Amino acid sequence: MQIYKVGGAVRDRLLGKPVTDIDWVVVGATTEEMLAKGFRPVGADFPVFLHPKSGEEYALARTERKNGRGYGGFIFHASPDVTLEEDLIRRDLTINAMAEDDQQNLTDPYHGQRDLEARLLRHVSPAFAEDPLRVLRVARFAARYAELGFTVAPETLELMRQLTESGELEALTPERSWKEIARALMEDQPQVFIKVLRECGALKVLMPEVDALFGVPQPEAHHPEIDTGVHTLSVLEQAALHKQPLTVRWACLLHDLGKGLTPEEEWPRHIAHEHKGLKLIKAVNERFKAPKDCQELALLVGEYHTHGHRALELKPSTLLELLQSFDVYRRPQRFEEFIAACEMDARGRKGLEQRSYPQADYLRGAATAARSVAVQPLLEKGFKGPELGEAIKGERLKALKAYKAAAPT
Ligand code: ATP
Ligand code: MG
Repeated sequence: MQIYKVGGAVRDRLLGKPVTDIDWVVVGATTEEMLAKGFRPVGADFPVFLHPKSGEEYALARTERKNGRGYGGFIFHASPDVTLEEDLIRRDLTINAMAEDDQQNLTDPYHGQRDLEARLLRHVSPAFAEDPLRVLRVARFAARYAELGFTVAPETLELMRQLTESGELEALTPERSWKEIARALMEDQPQVFIKVLRECGALKVLMPEVDALFGVPQPEAHHPEIDTGVHTLSVLEQAALHKQPLTVRWACLLHDLGKGLTPEEEWPRHIAHEHKGLKLIKAVNERFKAPKDCQELALLVGEYHTHGHRALELKPSTLLELLQSFDVYRRPQRFEEFIAACEMDARGRKGLEQRSYPQADYLRGAATAARSVAVQPLLEKGFKGPELGEAIKGERLKALKAYKAAAPT
């Protein structure tokens, strides 16, 4: 049997990028031979194994044929007579379809190296269209390598458009889609992921609520970029620049969905968009089965981001309600993430990226003030049950009044 490094490891070495996980392909071997060498099978009917020591993935060279919708609709054919070239042709992009032996000899039948140099994300063959996940993968690679100047080849974008129009994207499972979305959002330029999806029409299928924001104007005085879609991309860009976690990035993407529902007569104002957007945020959350912390933060940021921006003007009682809604006493980290998302929203405006955001420290100070209220003295005074709750609230309100009175204006 011959063993080659494939995919990301070869690509990233040629790009001079750090290689983290290595995928291997094994040519000329049978399942029995792999098992005899101590490899552990990954799935029952999938010719992929884990190395007994390194735990890295070794896949038998295989061909595949589509016989139904979605990813379940593939028939794999793995046998010792499948060649390296036959295995490589089923891969998504030319830059991912190169292999390398232990002497670093490159096998590159589909000109991945040429496309690396031309900075092009190009599909290997028309079979690209057989797995709709590849639309998301290409958009993710575009986000990852935008910094190096990579773009999607026009003919690949065209194929992505056709794939989208065929309705195949709807066959993707939430789990597969979310994995790509989450990885793409964590890239350095996640806004490129959304842009590419939009260019091929996939955004309209996957997240029509986000797609609908393009072309919706906002008041120029607050939003020099005007367009709500453009604003959303900038907020995401800021979130990546500021190294925000996935929860915050997800919330940034969804925070303004309500603006897509505003009747045109009301443009460029968006009255109560925060509240109106909640059902849309919930729908997107559930469509992709986003993790609970992402879902929660997106809903809270959607509902309260304007409160964040107005923090310095809020009455102490409104501040208290805000802090209670976040359960800041038990979930201080979630409130920090809310503050971060609000700040990214404020910075995601054309020409205002560097403007300071005093609301952030003000909100932190308010949280500290409310949290500093001690329960013990109230217990000692004999408060119990609901009365105790009211008494704590009363003390927190006092603390916030004092905080606001002392804050520099
Ligand atoms: P990463 O750095 O994100 O791991 P990668 O290219 O190694 O990038 P993997 O998901 O680890 O990506 O997949 C390894 C290789 O398998 C890819 O380079 C590609 O050749 C192939 N591959 C993975 N998923 C698909 C797919 N859905 N369709 C076609 N080829 C795929
Ligand atoms: Mg990999």
